[in-house]
Amino acid sequence: PGPIGVIGGGQLGRMFIQAARRLGYDVAVLADHPDDPAARISRQVVLGPSGDLNTLKVFQAHAAAVTVEFENVSAPGLRWLEGQKRVVRPSSHSVWICQDRLREKGFLESQGVPTAPWRPIVDAEDLDRAIRPFEQGGAPFPAILKTATSGYDGKGQRRVETPDQLEEAWRSLRRSPCVLEGFVPFAAEVSVVAARGRDGQAVTFPPFLNHHVRHILDTTTAPAPLGPILTAEARDLALKTIHALEHVGVLCVEFFLTTDGQLLVNELAPRPHNSGHLTIEAAVCDQFEQQVRALVGLPLGCADLVSPAAMVNLMGELWSQGEPNWTAALQAEPAARLHLYGKFRPAPGRKMGHLTVLDPDPQRALDRALAARRALAS
Ligand code: ATP
Ligand code: MG
Ligand code: MG
Repeated sequence: PGPIGVIGGGQLGRMFIQAARRLGYDVAVLADHPDDPAARISRQVVLGPSGDLNTLKVFQAHAAAVTVEFENVSAPGLRWLEGQKRVVRPSSHSVWICQDRLREKGFLESQGVPTAPWRPIVDAEDLDRAIRPFEQGGAPFPAILKTATSGYDGKGQRRVETPDQLEEAWRSLRRSPCVLEGFVPFAAEVSVVAARGRDGQAVTFPPFLNHHVRHILDTTTAPAPLGPILTAEARDLALKTIHALEHVGVLCVEFFLTTDGQLLVNELAPRPHNSGHLTIEAAVCDQFEQQVRALVGLPLGCADLVSPAAMVNLMGELWSQGEPNWTAALQAEPAARLHLYGKFRPAPGRKMGHLTVLDPDPQRALDRALAARRALAS
C-alpha cells in the first residue's frame, strides 16, 4: 500500500518500526524531537505537533497509511489525514474515544462493559454533588480523581480519602475535566491485548498479569493464572470492546480483578501496550507485527504464546548510580532478552527499556527476570 508512517516518537513507535522493517517497510515518523526513540531509527522524520496542519502536510507526503503509537495525538489532525484519503488505523474515532476518560467510560457503559463506579467532575456543580454526604448523592470514598485527558503512567491522578481531599485534588489538577472513580480493592490487574484486522477479524493474546509500582507498570507475567473461565471472560470482553469500537489495529484492555472475582475494565489503550512487550519473544506473532499487519491490510498473525514468559521494565531509577551493570545481568540470566529504547536522559519514572525471560513456568520466568534486573544494580 505504499509507504507507512507512525505518529509519535516513543519506544512503542520504535518497536513498531522494528516490526515493520521485518516486513520490508520503511516508516516515516512524526515526532517532537529528533532524539526520540522512534525518530532515531527512522530515515524519514517529520518534526512537529500532530495537530499542526503544516506538519501534517509534510508528513502525509511520506505515508499512505498512518498509525499512532500513543493516544494523546490530535484527533482533528487524524481526521484531516483521513480526509486526505490516507489509511488511518486506528481511526480518528477510536483515538478520540480512548484519549478522553469521560468519553471512554461513557462508551464502555453504553456497551454494558463493567467498570469501576465513576462520575464526571467537570464543573463546580459536579464537585458540589460529589462532596455531599453519600446518602444525598455524594461520591463514595476512597476514590481516584483522574484528569480526562493527557494522563499516562499515573500522571494526572490523585487518590482521595475524603470530600475535603477531593476539593483539594481538583484544585491541584487545575479544575480540568476529570473522572472520579471508586477505588477498586483489586486482587490483581490483568490486560488483554487484542488486534482487529481491516476485514473485521479479531484475535487476542492470552490475558497478562500486571503488577504496578507507583501507578507505573513494573512487571508482566504471561499467561495470567486466571483459570479457564475468567480467561475466556477477559478475552470475550476485549473482543466485544474492539468490535464495538470498530477498531482496526491493536487495542489493549486493562482490567481489575476484584477481590470477589469480578472483572472490571480500568481503561483502554488504542495501540500496542507495555504489557504486550513480551509477545516479541513469547508469541507466534507479536503485538507490533499485528499492528503492522492491521495497518497494511494483511491477515493478522497467530496470537498464541510459544512459551510462558515474564517482562520487567527498566526504569530511569536504575541509572541513579551510573550505567547499570549489563554484563552482570546477562551473565546471571543468559535467557534474558534485553531491550533498550535508546533514550539519552534517564530520569526517575522514565521507561528506558525492558527484559523478557521465557520459562515453562510463568512464575519462574518472573523470578528469573527479576534476578536479572537485580544484577543490574550490582
Ligand atoms: P497507563 O496509561 O500508563 O496504564 P494511566 O495514567 O492511564 O496509566 P491508570 O491505568 O488509570 O493510569 O492507572 C494506573 C494504575 O493506578 C492502575 O494500573 C492501578 O494500579 C491504579 N489505579 C488506577 N485506578 C484505580 C482504581 N480506580 N482503583 C484502584 N487502583 C487504581
Ligand atoms: Mg492510560
Ligand atoms: Mg493504565
